[in-house]
Amino acid sequence: MALIVQKYGGTSVGSVERIQNVARKVKLFRDRGDDVVVVVSAMSGETNRLLDLARGVNPEHCARETDVLLATGEQVTIALLAMALKAIGCDARSYTGSQVHILTDSAHSKARILEIDQNKMRDDLAQGRVVVVAGFQGADEHGNITTLGRGGSDTTAVALAAALKADECQIYTDVDGVYTTDPRVVAEARRLDRITFEEMLEMASLGSKVLQIRSVEFAGKFNVPLRVLSSFEGKEGPGTLITYEEDGMEEALISGIAFNRDEAKLTIQGVPDQPGVAYRILGPIGEADIEVDMIVQNVGADGTTDFTFTVHRNDYEKALKLLRQTATDVGAREVAGDNKIVKISIVGVGMRSHAGIASTMFQALAKEGINIRMISTSEIKISVVVDEKYLELGVRALHTAFELDQAPATNA
Ligand code: ASP
Ligand code: MG
Repeated sequence: MALIVQKYGGTSVGSVERIQNVARKVKLFRDRGDDVVVVVSAMSGETNRLLDLARGVNPEHCARETDVLLATGEQVTIALLAMALKAIGCDARSYTGSQVHILTDSAHSKARILEIDQNKMRDDLAQGRVVVVAGFQGADEHGNITTLGRGGSDTTAVALAAALKADECQIYTDVDGVYTTDPRVVAEARRLDRITFEEMLEMASLGSKVLQIRSVEFAGKFNVPLRVLSSFEGKEGPGTLITYEEDGMEEALISGIAFNRDEAKLTIQGVPDQPGVAYRILGPIGEADIEVDMIVQNVGADGTTDFTFTVHRNDYEKALKLLRQTATDVGAREVAGDNKIVKISIVGVGMRSHAGIASTMFQALAKEGINIRMISTSEIKISVVVDEKYLELGVRALHTAFELDQAPATNA
């Protein structure tokens, strides 16, 4: 007998039939003797539909009222799921976030969970009920309804699992796990049995959008074993366990390859090299709320410096304009930009203990004639910027070079 928190996303509860399918799944665990707390999202498309309604009434964003509105999406699915459970003889009760006292701060649309009162949930579980909780929402100390940011139901599930010290937090979604890379780009991509929290964070922030990033951080911090798996019939399986690094984990050097298509790069050339130059260049960019990712600076023989950085493609024009202004102010020679670039990253904790990973990466790209425009590294990740047209080729070449096409040996 275990205590399990399960979360079902929008597509898994996207219709009455799918809700009934979820109810049957939950019942299997109950019949086995497990205690189950279920967190659900709104039906797929519902949160967007509500946001459209809000915009129709008032083009200005009303933070407090938007949260009141959006929270209704999840209120629909908790009630329907509890009814569906009862219909198949499984006692259940639904609760909104504030009903189970998910206390958050007051930052509407991006609230953080401060505290959860488990008493009510424990009582229901003790009476043999399934507890169904609305994801993505809570209430602040004044009782105002808050929401946790898009995709926030994942975080609700992990937070409940942490509070209840659940044996596992299972995130049911429309994919059957975390893959070595996007299977749409590399047909040979494999589902990983396990991945560490750290690797998952790098993969998620780089565009493998399986889980809300914050939920992974939360799970890592509170050591909640987190499993991603599919809720769809015919795709059942063990999914991917996100956990701490331990012996017996796959002995791969690299766990996965992430990529990001939304990149743009800007260069300011011939900047007089003086203290404070980086600040003068990036200060206005930061003030305009533009996030900078990679940065490279080179000082040339003539004593001037070239400075290159990357931003999100949506911010490209804005950044270019600011940079042209800066170029005039500091007396730089030239400004150049390119918004047809992408970032490819290899991620793996195996990198810590093995040398030569970077050269394997660069060699694989060189063999395909792919020019690397920028490089950045961290402890468990190496990223390169390349021309957009090389994205697929680059990811495939790396997937093969690091032998991700084949199941790795385990030392279990
Ligand atoms: N319904 C919310 C959203 O669409 C929360 C979630 O699905 O996790 O973002
Ligand atoms: Mg989601």
